[in-house]
Amino acid sequence: MLDADFFRRWMAATAASVEREAERLTALDSPIGDADHGSNLLRGFRAVSAALEKEDPRTPGAILVLAGRQLISTVGGASGPLYGTLLRRTGKALGDAAEVDEAQLTAALRTGVEAVMALGGAAPGDKTMIDALSPAVDALDAGFGAARAAAEEGALATVPLQARKGRASYLGERSIGHQDPGATSSALLIAALAEANG
Ligand code: ADP
Ligand code: MG
Ligand code: MG
Repeated sequence: MLDADFFRRWMAATAASVEREAERLTALDSPIGDADHGSNLLRGFRAVSAALEKEDPRTPGAILVLAGRQLISTVGGASGPLYGTLLRRTGKALGDAAEVDEAQLTAALRTGVEAVMALGGAAPGDKTMIDALSPAVDALDAGFGAARAAAEEGALATVPLQARKGRASYLGERSIGHQDPGATSSALLIAALAEANG
């Protein structure tokens, strides 16, 4: 079973990998964006860590809802409301259970990813975070390691795609040949899930 400590470890591992990878995420956002993806997520996940420490939510659902709310209120870029919605809606779907199993987490994450698709209008293949998140959720039945591999593969597979959503879409065909920064950070988020599982 996955308890509140597991979800705290997930958020902490995500924050730590954003600290490590911020420069790379910003560099990926430079040719097809405005070179702020790393700094956006740094600001967001530092706020998540501070809020989790201060408010000390006790259930998996409350942890993700609080984290999502922090991302929405502190990140100015497109990724803040999108990641915020992902975590908030996933948290809401978990309800107020003290522990959840992997099947419940998979179902809740699917709800969260669908909410991101509804908010941003992106489908798989549009060269966004959805290209990492959607295959990860599909692979989660096979375990956290499989989800991590699917997310990383999905992020790499954005390279030859032309962006159809977000800032990169303004470049049209010139967006081809670059890895999407949001799909890359989504792979970090899913890798952190595997890390939290130990
Ligand atoms: P901004 O583009 O506002 O500067 P960020 O640089 O933080 O925001 O985030 C950019 C990332 O957000 C993109 O790489 C893409 O993965 C994701 N993104 C942008 N628009 C959408 C959308 N409509 N749906 C899903 N993801 C999106
Ligand atoms: Mg940007
Ligand atoms: Mg920006």
